[in-house]
Amino acid sequence: MGARVLAGASAAGALLTQASRRASSLSIRPHLVLIRAGTDPASLSYIRGKQRQAEITGLRTTVHALPESVTLPELLTLLATLNADSGVHGILVQLPLPPHLPVAPLHEAVDPRKDVDGFHPLNVGRLWSGTRAVDAPVLAPCTPLGVLALLRHHGIPVAGRRAVVVGRSDIVGRPMAAVLLGADATVTVVHRRSTDLAALTREADVLVVAAGQPWLITADMVRPGATVVDVGIHRISGEGQPVRLTGDVHPEVAGVAGALTPVPGGVGPLTVAQLMLNTVLAAERQVNWNVV
Ligand code: NDP
Repeated sequence: MGARVLAGASAAGALLTQASRRASSLSIRPHLVLIRAGTDPASLSYIRGKQRQAEITGLRTTVHALPESVTLPELLTLLATLNADSGVHGILVQLPLPPHLPVAPLHEAVDPRKDVDGFHPLNVGRLWSGTRAVDAPVLAPCTPLGVLALLRHHGIPVAGRRAVVVGRSDIVGRPMAAVLLGADATVTVVHRRSTDLAALTREADVLVVAAGQPWLITADMVRPGATVVDVGIHRISGEGQPVRLTGDVHPEVAGVAGALTPVPGGVGPLTVAQLMLNTVLAAERQVNWNVV
């Protein structure tokens, strides 16, 4: 019997319904500003997807499409203007940026109240300090929150279980570990310097893979019956073939795992849906409570 498919659409739909309902009960229309620089095709398609979803959810959006040559001071000036504008509730700087632009100063320059990606050090600290990101109004990174929402939607328990996260990036791996810890899992984080990756991944009841390596996780690396969440996205194109999307988990894992997220159609929709909810949350913080 193959693994149960943990599709993202229904879980994302539940988050979007919540975002829409909460947005409509505000006195203002939440306004999300998306900033991109250069012509990276993945960035372009992510921005388009986020903008489309925001409009459907009832949010206002503005996109700043900047040239590849934009400088750090120019971006910092734009962020300062947006921070000072009370009509802007969420600010997102789309990654990847052109290589000459350092990411950390940009994350630090976004007003923490408008930091819908949850990358500002204040919000990172709040997430790690043990504040429950899901039950309390903390702005935390969208993909990890989306993964937890996906697991909960499909009734996969996390509390008290062994969770293994492959990857330790600021965007996915580390905040994923914090979110799972906050949900009472016992968490291991593995990376390139970890020894015996397969032995570590086989310990997982819940295995979340965000390594950015196509088909890194094979069937022998998964405990039978485990839940496997594949965060990886890779565009594979052969000569004369249409572009296909694949993940970090080999399709053969479906024969071993108890439940598995598909690529595409698994984690991706949750990331976008959680961004909508984070934007509404940011607007609520600013409009209703006026707190940092
Ligand atoms: P990064 O490249 O920033 O990080 C990858 C992490 O995986 C690193 O910590 C790295 O370890 C670890 N890693 C890589 N290879 C191995 C290996 N062989 N064994 C153990 N650990 C390994 O990637 P991101 O976190 O930004 O993204 C990961 C994937 O998720 C990508 O495919 C990306 O496209 C996708 N993604 C999907 C999203 C979605 O919405 N579905 C959203 C965001 C990302 P080390 O630190 O030692 O180098």
